[in-house]
Amino acid sequence: MSAGRGSPRDLGQIRDGLAGARILRERLALALGLPELLENLLPALDGHGELVDLLERALVETPPTEMTNGGYIAAGYDPALDELRSAGSDGRKAIAILEARYREVTGINTLKIKHNAVLGYFIEVPARHGDSLMAENSGFTHRQTLAGVVRFNSTDLHEEAVRVSQAGAHALAAETAHFEELVDKVLLRKQAISESADALARIDVSAALAERASEAQWCRPQFVDGNILDIQAGRHPVVEAALAAKGEAFVANDCALANDERLWLVSGPNMGGKSTFLRQNALIVILAQAGGFVPASSAKLSLVDRLFSRVGASDNLAQGRSTFMVEMVETAAILSQATEKSFVILDEVGRGTSTYDGLALAWAVVEAVHETNRCRCLFATHYHELTRLADRLDALSLHHVRAREWKGDLVLLHELAKGPADRSYGLAVAKLAGIPKPVLNRAKSVLDKLEAGKAETGGLAAGLGDLPLFAASLAEVEERSDSLREALGKLDIDALSPREALDQLYALKAQLEQE
Ligand code: ATP
Repeated sequence: MSAGRGSPRDLGQIRDGLAGARILRERLALALGLPELLENLLPALDGHGELVDLLERALVETPPTEMTNGGYIAAGYDPALDELRSAGSDGRKAIAILEARYREVTGINTLKIKHNAVLGYFIEVPARHGDSLMAENSGFTHRQTLAGVVRFNSTDLHEEAVRVSQAGAHALAAETAHFEELVDKVLLRKQAISESADALARIDVSAALAERASEAQWCRPQFVDGNILDIQAGRHPVVEAALAAKGEAFVANDCALANDERLWLVSGPNMGGKSTFLRQNALIVILAQAGGFVPASSAKLSLVDRLFSRVGASDNLAQGRSTFMVEMVETAAILSQATEKSFVILDEVGRGTSTYDGLALAWAVVEAVHETNRCRCLFATHYHELTRLADRLDALSLHHVRAREWKGDLVLLHELAKGPADRSYGLAVAKLAGIPKPVLNRAKSVLDKLEAGKAETGGLAAGLGDLPLFAASLAEVEERSDSLREALGKLDIDALSPREALDQLYALKAQLEQE
C-alpha cells in the first residue's frame, strides 16, 4: 500500500486480517494465566475498530485484484455511485428493450444488439437480411459488413449507448476516488498496522511451534556449557511427516558429539538416510536456539556460535557457478570461519569431481575440520577410504546407516550404527531404481575389475595412511609465506625508483609461483 501498488484485494485483506486480530485478542483475553510475553502482545492486536468498520462498509466481500473494471465498492456505501450504477443498468435494460422492438419492427428474429471494444454497441443481422436495413429511410446506418453478418447503428441505440458508457465512466471514477481515500486512511495507521502484523506473526510462530511440540511429541532441549550435542531419538520433522502421510514410520536416531568424539564420519548406502540424519541434527540445533521444542526424545546441547551446512540443495547454476564450484566455495567458507563453538554438516564433499580429486579433497577437509576448526561436525561420505583417518584423528568416530541384503534385494534400515559401513551397495540401489539388467551386469563386471586392480596396488587410498597430518602441512604453508615475508622485509622502498619497484614486484610474484 505504501508503495502505491496496492489493489482493492489488498484493502480487503487488511480488513480481514485486522478483524481477525481483533477476534484473536477477544478470545485470548478470556484465557486465564496467559504467559507474560503473550499478554504483552495483546494490546497491539486491537485499536483498528474504526478502520475495520469503514473497510467493511466500503468494500464488497471479495474485492478484485484489478481496479480497471471497478465493482469493488459495496452497494450502499455511496448513494451517488449507486445512482450512476443504476443509470448504467437502466441504460442496458433500455438497450434490451430496443432489441426486442427492432426485431418486431423489422421482422428479423435473429437481430441482435451486441457490444465490442471497437464499435461499442451495434445492431447485427445475418447477411441475407442486410439489404432490408440498408434502405435510406430504414432508420439504420450501416457500419460494417463481415462474411456472414452486417452491422448497423441507430440514433436511439447511440443515445442509450452514450448514457451507459457515461454512467460507467463516472462510476469508475467515483470508485477510484473512494479507493484512494481508503488507502490514505490505511496509511495513516500504517505504524499501528505493522505492529499488529508483528504481534500476529509472533503468536503464529509460537502457536505453530507449540502445536508441533504437543502433537508430534517434541521435547524441551536442555542447554549446557561446553561443546556438547547429545540428541536421543532425533527425527527429521519434514521427512517424518511425509512418511506418516504414506503410513510409514520414521526411524529415530541418536547423535552424541562431545569433545572426544566431535567429528562423526557417516557412511552407508545411497538412500540410507545419511543426508536426512545430517539435516535433522542441524534443524534440531536451529529449533532449539530459536527457543522451540525439538523433534527428539531428549536433547542436550551447548549454544553454537554459527551453524554451517554444505549440502547439495543450493547449487546455483543460474549465477554461473558449477555444482563443484558451489561445493568448494561453501566448503572454503566453512574452513575459514567455523570455530570450536560451531556446528557443521558436510554432505559428500568431493563428489562433484573425479574420484581421486574428490577423495583427496575430502581427506584434507576432514583433517582440517578435526585439527584446525575443531568444531562439532557430521560428515557424510561415500569414500570408504576415509575411514582410515579414524586411526590417527582421535576425536573422529565412524558411523554408518545400516542396510541388509535379503533374498538378493537391498533393505535399507535407516538406522545409525557405530563403525564403518561394510560396503557401498551402489549397484543394489541402482537395481532398486530400475536400471536395466544388462547395464547392471556390465557395471558389476567393471566393478570386479576395478576391485581386482585395487587389491593388487593396495587400493585407492593406499599410501595415504603414511602422509603427515594436516597440521604438518599447514606448517609447510607458513614456512613458504615466511620466505616471501623475508624478501619483502629486505626491501628499502624509499630507495627504489618506480621502475625498480615494479621489477621487485615481478620478482616476488615469480618467487611465489616457483614455490
Ligand atoms: P545418498 O547417498 O543417495 O545421497 P542418503 O543416504 O543421503 O542418500 P537420504 O537422502 O537421507 O539418503 O534418505 C533417502 C530417503 O530415505 C529419504 O527420502 C527418506 O524417505 C528415507 N529415510 C531417510 N532417513 C530415514 C529414517 N530415519 N527413517 C525412515 N526413512 C528414512
